[in-house]
Amino acid sequence: MALGISRKAAGIAPSATLALNAKVTAMKAAGEKVIGFASGEPDFDTPVAIRDAAKTALDTGKTRYTAASGTPELRKAIQQKLLAENGLDYDISQIVVSNGAKHSIFNAFFALIDDGDEVIIPTPCWVSYPEMVKMCGGVPVFAQTTEEDNFVLKPSQIEAAITGKTKAFMLTSPSNPNGSCWGLADLQALADLAVKHDFYIITDEIYEHLLYNGEKNISIATLGEKVKERTITINGVSKTYAMTGFRIGYAAGPKDVMKAIAACQSQATSAPNTPAQYAAITALTMDQEPVHVMCEAFKQRRDALVEGLNAIEGISCLKPDGAFYVMMNVKKLIGKKKDGKEVDSCSTFAEMLLEQEKVAVVPGAEFYAPGFCRLTYALSMENLLEGVRRIRNFAEGLTD
Ligand code: PMP
Repeated sequence: MALGISRKAAGIAPSATLALNAKVTAMKAAGEKVIGFASGEPDFDTPVAIRDAAKTALDTGKTRYTAASGTPELRKAIQQKLLAENGLDYDISQIVVSNGAKHSIFNAFFALIDDGDEVIIPTPCWVSYPEMVKMCGGVPVFAQTTEEDNFVLKPSQIEAAITGKTKAFMLTSPSNPNGSCWGLADLQALADLAVKHDFYIITDEIYEHLLYNGEKNISIATLGEKVKERTITINGVSKTYAMTGFRIGYAAGPKDVMKAIAACQSQATSAPNTPAQYAAITALTMDQEPVHVMCEAFKQRRDALVEGLNAIEGISCLKPDGAFYVMMNVKKLIGKKKDGKEVDSCSTFAEMLLEQEKVAVVPGAEFYAPGFCRLTYALSMENLLEGVRRIRNFAEGLTD
């Protein structure tokens, strides 16, 4: 045997968004006035009631291991939330709480994928899905959406991606990185295909509350018993309640899948952090007004960002219905130059924007979306407007 890391680990790219955020944090620490459109987390403080619940948990000795799938109280709160908000009826044994939705998604892939199994992932996609599929021995199969189709896959595109090895479809609505939302007809078409071709749907509903079109998120598992039997619903408290650092996410799904997830988690990580579980109970059961306040602020920022970007020559973006991301189309600026340096890709665009204007955006190439950059609007309105001013300055300074 030779020393060295496994082939599985060697093929995994580090999270590009986390790396960029680390760079921005270091620049800020060095005194640079960076405007960050790169971070994927709400900038709001965690609501007071939730912080108090975490403190009370600590002060009352809630500091030991809990049941590996999460406390019965938290799973009950999740069960009631899924029933009341999503119309999904699950037994508590079908719910597993993990260290963030990211961990829940990994668990789902791990429980479902055998070597060589395929997972269809619509692109642009969140950076972590393909890497997680690979970590589990699977093969990501990308299905490209377009800006013209509002970044939603057509049924014919889903069908074209299905093979005899398709094990699952990764659905994210509202989406990271583009805020796109799947409508009822889109979801129904996917559900029908999952039933017809017998594959699972892993639905990441972490942004379900950040919806600005006046509609409610539709959980695909509600579209019939057969689709429910094939769906693992993922959610968590990170985005809705500004609790990213608490690391609480959860999954609900068919009994056999959740039993496998629970067994694997019990061996790999045990339960998530105990005080955080207590904080999550409060988040799910408290008066939800803080969520509405955050949502309204996000909506105003989205409107300002979309308007500001579309007013810049050579730049455009759609107005997404959900999450806190926009995809800025910079294709018309590719090939232009500044100080002798050519903007030859969205990655160079992002690099030069950070160097010259101290504005951080994530190049779309990281999300399988070349020609775009992803911007979050999880920053104050003041910083957002200043950021847009700097982007305009950069774009106007480019020459042929
Ligand atoms: N899913 C999506 C689509 C996300 O954007 C993120 C966070 N960037 C997560 C899951 C991870 O959430 P958590 O903090 O609960 O792990």
